[in-house]
Amino acid sequence: MGDFLPYGRQSINEEDIAAVTEVLRGDWLTTGPAVSRFEADLEELTEGGGAVAVTSGTAALHVAYAAAGIGAGDEVVTSPMTFVATASTAALLGAKVVFADVEPETGNLDPAAARAAVTERTRVVAAVDYAGHPAELDELRTVAGSSGALLLEDAAHSIGGSWRGRPVGSLADLTTFSFFATKNLTTAEGGAVVTRSADLLRRARQFRNHGLVRDRTDQRYPDEGGWHQEVHAFGLNYRLPDVLCALGSAQLRKLAAFKRRREQLHARYDKGLADVAEVRTPVTREGADVMWHLYALRVLDGQRGPLYDHLRALGIGVQVNYIPVYWHPVFEDLGYRRGLCPNAERFYAQQLSLPLFPELTDAEADRVVDAVRSFFGY
Ligand SMILES: *Cc1c(COP(=O)(O)O)cnc(C)c1O
Repeated sequence: MGDFLPYGRQSINEEDIAAVTEVLRGDWLTTGPAVSRFEADLEELTEGGGAVAVTSGTAALHVAYAAAGIGAGDEVVTSPMTFVATASTAALLGAKVVFADVEPETGNLDPAAARAAVTERTRVVAAVDYAGHPAELDELRTVAGSSGALLLEDAAHSIGGSWRGRPVGSLADLTTFSFFATKNLTTAEGGAVVTRSADLLRRARQFRNHGLVRDRTDQRYPDEGGWHQEVHAFGLNYRLPDVLCALGSAQLRKLAAFKRRREQLHARYDKGLADVAEVRTPVTREGADVMWHLYALRVLDGQRGPLYDHLRALGIGVQVNYIPVYWHPVFEDLGYRRGLCPNAERFYAQQLSLPLFPELTDAEADRVVDAVRSFFGY
């Protein structure tokens, strides 16, 4: 039976450990130079205007919506095929979350469904790069623009990928990343917001740091004294410490290698399962250079649940990503009903994530393929 295979796992080497211990021996544990360095590294990778490192992908979404000025009475159009944080952070700011259905094959927000969902109250259209595959960002930009809304890209799965030759992080008004342990690169917990708008960047930086205004030219009472700082709008402490930013910069240096290994494994699964009639392997759209975060298999004929149990019993840590967000009781209690987004519900019913991480060996991937094949009698 062998060891338990997780569905995702970090890759940490001596270079990462050295980067962290160097910070621990230095003067700045937080608010120091490793933060600016990590942000500069992210800006280089994404060809974006500015990056704001924060404590999680959830914090990044909260910061991004706050920077967009989301509040009570505003609407945010988003995909139900995502982790709950894409929606809950907007709801916490008082917005009404409007779920639009996904494309049946990629699981990404369907531009036509998003177009039908926007109203004059829509302030943000939030796409999710499901499994790492970029959403239809050009069409979604047009949809968002048609109602004067901003386009947000939840790129928790897709850092390092690109769409029509442009890197993730350069495509939307606001892009958010997660550096949780199972994501494409990790700072244990962490995240970032990237934006090309100087105004959104300033607002994001302020919300991350209690809303504090330190620049005298922006202060209401600049002559108070050298110690003076002011709060003009409420914020939080979402600062990512130097200890973790140093880890992030070290991880970024390996991102291209992580991407190549994830691609190899993804292709190995595709090949090993191509002739299994009971499953569908993931699609790649023209123009997408994908950083594969998940291997999102689809299992037909109601066999997803039994296959999940079978693989788990064999020590293979499969996952389901995701339950449609509005199925969570918190949304049900707000009046959202099952049946709202049929494509997302069908996608969920068939979806199974196979183990995928850079240190997964070919032999381990083959063990997963063999287990799926033998379940269906191949
Ligand atoms: C992981 C994830 C988040 C939240 O990130 P955390 O760092 O875990 O807070 C948000 N959206 C998506 C799509 C994610 O996968």
